[in-house]
Amino acid sequence: MHKRAHDETQTELRGKILTVRGMKVKSDKLGVVGVCDVVEFHEDTNGISLNGRNGKWIPRPVEFKHGRPKKGQEDEAQLCGQALCLEEMLCCDIKIGDLFYGETHRRVEVEFTEELRNIVRKALQEMNQYYKRGYTPKVKPGKKCKNCSLNSICLPEIQEKESVNLYLQKHMQGEK
Ligand code: SF4
Repeated sequence: MHKRAHDETQTELRGKILTVRGMKVKSDKLGVVGVCDVVEFHEDTNGISLNGRNGKWIPRPVEFKHGRPKKGQEDEAQLCGQALCLEEMLCCDIKIGDLFYGETHRRVEVEFTEELRNIVRKALQEMNQYYKRGYTPKVKPGKKCKNCSLNSICLPEIQEKESVNLYLQKHMQGEK
């Protein structure tokens, strides 16, 4: 489901909703780039103009998730990060987006409150500080890792047991 959302980098107009899949986004203010699964543009007189389209449109990011809604706010924060990028790129305000959960086949509307926006700003600020220092923080593995698309890069079970240096040393010795 997630792969399909990314593969079809296409635009589709159905009624008053223009759907764009795999849209690349970035924010210079927040120092982040990414790809949105789907950005819907809802035709609305209060919206913004889009190049090559008549009318006005309100952007609304939609993120697809395998499972079901989680206890934490990570999904909401990811979606809000996309909204912040879109707001900066398109010079507009985006109040809501949606998370679509594969297990429940439901859309959950997410309001981009000031509190949620601040969580995202703070996390990205922290991330950029780590990046500048060249420091990789220790991860906290958990159930969440099972379906995480970053699992093969993050390798949470290794980080828990031994240092990355030790892991590399062992594997490089094995290759001799
Ligand atoms: S695999 Fe890494 S990035 Fe993914 S949820 Fe686990 S700790 Fe977080």
